[in-house]
Amino acid sequence: MSKSSSRASRMNIPVAELLRRPGSQRELSIQAEFEDLATSDAAVRGPVDLQLHLESVVGGLQVSGSATTGWRGSCRRCLEPIEQMVQQDLREMFGSAPTDDETYPIHDGEVDLAPMVRDCLVLALPIAPLCSEDCAGPAPDAYPMNQPEATGEDRLKDPRWAALDALRTGQ
Ligand SMILES: [Zn+2]
Repeated sequence: MSKSSSRASRMNIPVAELLRRPGSQRELSIQAEFEDLATSDAAVRGPVDLQLHLESVVGGLQVSGSATTGWRGSCRRCLEPIEQMVQQDLREMFGSAPTDDETYPIHDGEVDLAPMVRDCLVLALPIAPLCSEDCAGPAPDAYPMNQPEATGEDRLKDPRWAALDALRTGQ
């Protein structure tokens, strides 16, 4: 178990030794900063804690574990700031000669974990967060809430909800 810290946009980990002996494994505990990691609704805030398990497998390296960090955003109804934690499980493959988009590259006996962490956390950040489930908005009397849950019409205008609608319609 090694512990290190990184602020760089790259997180290069040497894995040549692991790759030489298929089946060998390594636990990795790393903390890294991703200051520019954000979606339109939320931004990563504070360090990202990575608890990773590296395993040399046929065709490359499998990396599994979890990423934990804080995020900051605004409530979609009252616009008040929100700060919460998020934890995301991950399981990814690294290969020397990736032939698909799902496999991250191994270069010169090293893997760069940063792109994997970014991809993982962008998916984990909340879409249209709420400060609480029953948030009534900034002035519920003056501006009756336009409830996206109540009307499918409104939801369809947002492409992110459209995908959800497609799922629900399929049920
Ligand atoms: Zn709110």
